[in-house]
Amino acid sequence: MARNANHVLVRRQSLTNTSRPANKARTISRAGNSELFQEYYFLYRIAATLADKMEAERPIREVKKIVGEFFHPQEYALLLWEEESQGLHLKSHFGFSRPRAELLALEKNRHWRTALRRKYPVHVPDLASAASPLLAHWKTPMRRGDFVATPLYVNAQRSLGVMSLYREQPNSFTAVEIKLLQKIAVQLGKVLDKIALYHQTHALSITDALTGLYNRRYFNERYEIEFMRAARYARPLAVLVIDIDHFKKFNDEHGHLVGDKVLKMTAKILEENIRKADILARFGGEEFIVVLPEIDKEHGCQVAEKLRRAIELTHFPKEESQPLGHLTASFGLAAFPEDATDGNKLLALADHALYAAKANGRNRVEVAGPIVQIS
Ligand code: GH3
Ligand code: MG
Ligand code: MG
Repeated sequence: MARNANHVLVRRQSLTNTSRPANKARTISRAGNSELFQEYYFLYRIAATLADKMEAERPIREVKKIVGEFFHPQEYALLLWEEESQGLHLKSHFGFSRPRAELLALEKNRHWRTALRRKYPVHVPDLASAASPLLAHWKTPMRRGDFVATPLYVNAQRSLGVMSLYREQPNSFTAVEIKLLQKIAVQLGKVLDKIALYHQTHALSITDALTGLYNRRYFNERYEIEFMRAARYARPLAVLVIDIDHFKKFNDEHGHLVGDKVLKMTAKILEENIRKADILARFGGEEFIVVLPEIDKEHGCQVAEKLRRAIELTHFPKEESQPLGHLTASFGLAAFPEDATDGNKLLALADHALYAAKANGRNRVEVAGPIVQIS
């Protein structure tokens, strides 16, 4: 800190020093104002990263900048807790050699968890003399320096990670600095929490609760974009509308719970048999829809046939009672540019082809165009 002449936080006095003479009080109070100003400034900079895009990288990058500009540690690390792997993972750092950073990330972070689970920072003013469990992280036992690790504390149940700073100079972090670092870490925690919540809520709003596929509303949005792209660049695009055969009968005979299981299984089969670039959604009830960008009519037919067969060959519970002997689905296909140059019209044509598939015996693929005949 003292290294930066422009810096408002050069003072070393402890905030906890209350036994000071009256004339000194003014200086302290001015120091207090600038600390407060600094605190607001940091918190504002972190919160401002939410302004345009809800991306975790932004506040993480901003905090790294703030730490580098104002606290001048030789080493800085930000580790976030990942539920899936139940470990802390290095997200941002400086001052580490690459192998050291990787080592840090690879470690099971036993010691960092100490800091993670606390509300307040862990401060080791001199690493060489302290007998802290945090020290096991530093591979050179005689290494000196000042170390602070502060949790990204959100609430008593939730801490998102740990931010840690190291200075070669022992006893160099002041109480004011540590307090500020704690505020920065808490602010970062809150901002990251908001971003995560935003993404969770968004994911829920575009997802069908039963199957986990996209819902119809989101499909419409994506379809419009995909269709416009295909039209603008004159690229092929195929649409498949899929409907489970005699599903009302199945539900009536075996109940909605088994029916739901069949819907989930069907969704999974479809998901497993398409590419990442394809858009699959539950269109409603027992109806699904797939958009295949860059796929022409002929290849669209092959995809539809593959999906149809996959459903036919899967063993579903209680399927023996279905009129065709097993659970099946019918498919309608329409393709751009052959069938329509309008997105809605293309969907309507795929739907029309589906009706033809139903009328022509079910468990089949029908294609939009002159060959479609509803008997
Ligand atoms: P078709 O072969 O002509 O498509 O006949 P169908 O019986 O499948 O078609 P219909 O539209 O008459 O019936 C659809 C049935 O799908 C009605 C309802 O029981 C069932 N269904 C719709 N949504 C759900 C759901 O979320 N869960 C379950 N279990 N069943 C559903
Ligand atoms: Mg239907
Ligand atoms: Mg049906």
